[in-house]
Amino acid sequence: MSLRRGAPSSRRAAAAEASQAPAAKPRASVALGDLGRLVLRSRAPGLRWRLTAALTLILAGKALGVLAPLLLGAAVNRLAEGRGAAAAVGLAFAGLAVGWAFVRFLSAAAPQARDAVFAPVAQAAQRRAAAETFEHALSLSLDYHQGKHTGALARTVDRGARSIDFLLRSLVFNLGPTGLEVVMAAVVLSKRYDWRLALTAVATVAVYVVVTFLISDWRIGHRRAMNAADNRAAGLAVDALLNYETVKTFGAERRAVGAYDAALDDYAQASIKANTSLALLNAVQTAIMSVGLGVMAVLAGLEAAEGRMGPGDVTAAVLLLINLYGPLNILGFAYREIRQAFIDMEAMLELSRERPDVADPAAPRDLPPPADQRGGRVVFERVSFRHGARSQGLEDVDLVAEPGSTIALVGPSGAGKTTLVRLALRLIDPQSGRVTLDGVDLREVRQADLRRAIALVPQDVALFNDTLRANIAFARPEASEAEVWAAAEAAELGDFVRGLPEGMEALVGERGLKLSGGERQRVGLARALLADPRVLILDEATSALDSRTEAAIQAALRKARKGRTTLVVAHRLSTVADADQIVVVRRGRVVERGTHDELLSREGEYAALWRRQTREA
Ligand code: ADP
Ligand code: MG
Repeated sequence: MSLRRGAPSSRRAAAAEASQAPAAKPRASVALGDLGRLVLRSRAPGLRWRLTAALTLILAGKALGVLAPLLLGAAVNRLAEGRGAAAAVGLAFAGLAVGWAFVRFLSAAAPQARDAVFAPVAQAAQRRAAAETFEHALSLSLDYHQGKHTGALARTVDRGARSIDFLLRSLVFNLGPTGLEVVMAAVVLSKRYDWRLALTAVATVAVYVVVTFLISDWRIGHRRAMNAADNRAAGLAVDALLNYETVKTFGAERRAVGAYDAALDDYAQASIKANTSLALLNAVQTAIMSVGLGVMAVLAGLEAAEGRMGPGDVTAAVLLLINLYGPLNILGFAYREIRQAFIDMEAMLELSRERPDVADPAAPRDLPPPADQRGGRVVFERVSFRHGARSQGLEDVDLVAEPGSTIALVGPSGAGKTTLVRLALRLIDPQSGRVTLDGVDLREVRQADLRRAIALVPQDVALFNDTLRANIAFARPEASEAEVWAAAEAAELGDFVRGLPEGMEALVGERGLKLSGGERQRVGLARALLADPRVLILDEATSALDSRTEAAIQAALRKARKGRTTLVVAHRLSTVADADQIVVVRRGRVVERGTHDELLSREGEYAALWRRQTREA
């Protein structure tokens, strides 16, 4: 399983973005099944009775909708027959007409009642789908997240969830039942009056629907172009806003605005086309319906002239057709929206079907308790890893970090040190070989357990746009005030925090940009120390610090290393000279290993590097 990774997964990340405006149309039956499952999984309170009540209300509403015109027809017939006293005729007419109005009201009120009954279910389904997809997106691998556009991903979730409510409203509760109403109306027309009237109704609706579909299909390209431009504009804006500093320092504001504006222009063009063609569609729809009504009126009138139907029945027949027209009215608009909603929903489900490269095992093992408070034992056994289709990667790396020891990884930039760190955290899985913690293959333990046992201070510490306290306590939100402060002190952050007017409550800005690089690193360090892991990994964690602060932190770290295993990736060799083992990595291979003194006397890569750095100093 570890063999499939890298390239396919970044391709899939790109595919997830493309699915904002995918070319393939989802099969309606499949999509309807998905929709049904989302509703059933919604865990809404009273799901079953609400669903039953909603469907009953819909059916009853449609049946009453067919019944109402018949009542008015009967009323008019009474009037036309005009037998008996005027008062009696008037009374009979009034009775039936009031009945018509009342039934009509019931039929129109049914959908509203259905809305009230079903809204909690629709909302729950929407919420659940969004939360599940969000959770799933977080579980996807590093590779996926490095290849995505955050803005577009957030929109996929957002749109997908919203599409559920829309599909339920327009398709399941509106157009679907209207199909049923057409059948009921046709049956009534042919049973009570004449099959030709039924045929007219069915034919009008059929032509209406087919023509609407055809024109809408032709229009869907415009819509897609519109969506793509919309996504592009959003992606560009988010990207530029996230990289505000880079844009600013290179004076690229105008370029960023230009690109954004161009995307907006594409959007405007596509939007105009979409609106114009919508007007055309509406005109054609009205024409079809009018012709249908005209034919219906003439046919019914001829029947009446021959005495087979009363004048009231003419009214009833025309009203029946007008009734069908009501819900169909939204078809042109809804067809497109429904297709789009299906596409949005499928894009979201596609995302949740995306298999994470790094997944929890079916039968996870527990990590053994740490060996007599000395830290974990991390072992790399013939580990190879390659990013995607890159020709170079880690080759056959063997590494043993004994409990409580400090291992330093040194080597030129791009050698693969961070990759080793990611393997140790199981952010990625090796293609061959294995990484173990206290004797257990990392692929056999729950990721949550693993990440509780190992803490990382990364090369770039990214912070949440929150307070210092929240950022430090992120590792352990339940930590006490004293523990947070102890971690801050250990990371040499105490003086800095005390110097801030808001202290621990100071906001750090988006991604922590209100702090200097060194302060961010120290927050990252405090966060990792607070986690109190059995293995601590520092990936060039002090590279942004001046040498005085670095020396102070080294002292703190030396204390922090007690009782745990430490993996240090360092650029400045002086900071790791006291490590138990120094491993020199170059181009994905371990080229030397040993203590500082051993490596110096070997006169190899490390010795050369050391001499260069001490000379510079
Ligand atoms: P360093 O030793 O400087 O920490 P890294 O482990 O970060 O080096 O990177 C090793 C190599 O892998 C580099 O050549 C880098 O460009 C490449 N690399 C890192 N991450 C990815 C990625 N997600 N996709 C493709 N290549 C990557
Ligand atoms: Mg690195």
